[in-house]
Amino acid sequence: MNLKIYHMYPDLLNLYGDRGNIIVLKKRAEWRGIEVFVINFTRDDEKNLEEADMIFLGGGSDREQGLLYSHLFKYKNLLKEMIEDGVVILAICGGYQLLGNYYLDAYGNKIEGLSVLDFYTKAEKGRLIGNILVETNLPLMVKTLVGFENHGGRTYHSYTPLGKVIKGYGNNGKDGYEGLIYNNLFGTYLHGPILSKNPHFADFLLKRALERKYNREIKLRDLDDKEEFWAHKKLKEIILKEGSPLRAPFKRLLF
Ligand code: GLN
Repeated sequence: MNLKIYHMYPDLLNLYGDRGNIIVLKKRAEWRGIEVFVINFTRDDEKNLEEADMIFLGGGSDREQGLLYSHLFKYKNLLKEMIEDGVVILAICGGYQLLGNYYLDAYGNKIEGLSVLDFYTKAEKGRLIGNILVETNLPLMVKTLVGFENHGGRTYHSYTPLGKVIKGYGNNGKDGYEGLIYNNLFGTYLHGPILSKNPHFADFLLKRALERKYNREIKLRDLDDKEEFWAHKKLKEIILKEGSPLRAPFKRLLF
């Protein structure tokens, strides 16, 4: 089996080590004998995006978002089709914001979004910075996601969120939700990189992409990832002890 993972604009969208997500996906697949081709897609080197089994968009500052919009716009219809077709997409922070209708920055400038999904983001007073703990809606054995967020933009949408914020801010710091799920597209504010701290989420994405590609149920072989899960658990404990506001009651979530 193999997977083609498209890394979109690795030269511009790589805040807080988001590139690490690609390494995690590749290694966790390869450890199971699944070949992974990572295709770097840049403004100077556009590859056949329609061949992607998985697309990754990292975070970027307002400047990068502005630069990329006009380039990515050419792929708007293709991206829309691919999303409807269930291609797995992970979009982080600036990359997530770019998929909506627009992003209104702190100076009132409107950075157009691709409008492949119907939502918007606007910068409000102060940045939302810190560690974040989320109880996810995904069908995972481990129900928590841990990460780090740093964004001025507040995202408002009515799609299914990726989860409920237990500690931290999430989409907008108000409604208690984080991220977005639409088909196999997952938008999130979690950096870290998210997948190194949440190996269960990485496996979920790999499984979804393989099942779509090979059109059958895929059972991923267990890995010896005690250390990765230990890191997840420790971070969860640390975040719970931190001073940031507790936004939802923390149940004993299945670890
Ligand atoms: N420019 C966006 C914001 O500050 C995204 C930043 C990011 O990707 N971390 O809201």
